[in-house]
This record gives sequence, structure tokens and C-alpha cells, in this order.
Amino acid sequence: MAGMFIDVKVDAAAARQPELVKKLVEVCPVGIFAQAEGGALRIVEENLDECVLCELCIAAAPQGTVRVVKLYEE
Ligand code: SF4
Repeated sequence: MAGMFIDVKVDAAAARQPELVKKLVEVCPVGIFAQAEGGALRIVEENLDECVLCELCIAAAPQGTVRVVKLYEE
């Protein structure tokens, strides 16, 4: 699932790391990341289009594990 304008893709292994997920939840100013029970990542679909492209999530994660995709440029 994606927003209309933005999709956020997180590497499957990274999405299961509770510490990394916690960091993503903290850095995103518009609440796109949430932590599900058990610690895994849950993307908050209804917030995807609020993304301000700040790239804080990309900076917080190991290189290449988080990608913010602009659907309107594809
Ligand atoms: S780029 Fe910024 S607003 Fe968009 S998902 Fe990442 S942290 Fe959230």
C-alpha cells in the first residue's frame, strides 16, 4: 500500500528491529512510522501523504534500508 504521492519502503529485516523502529517513530515529524505489538514496524498508511521529505528517517537508518519514494515523479 502507498499514499497517493508518497510511499515509504523499509527493508523487511530492518522493519523487524525494535530499536531501529523506535528511532524511526521518534524522528518522523508527521507520524508515518508506528511500532506494532512485538516491536515490528507498522507504516501508518493514512499519514503517508503528509511526508515532508525531511529525510530524517533515511538518516536514522542503516544506508539503503529506508527509502522515500515520490510516486508523482515516476
Ligand atoms: S522523510 Fe521525513 S516526513 Fe517523510 S517519512 Fe521520512 S521522516 Fe517522515
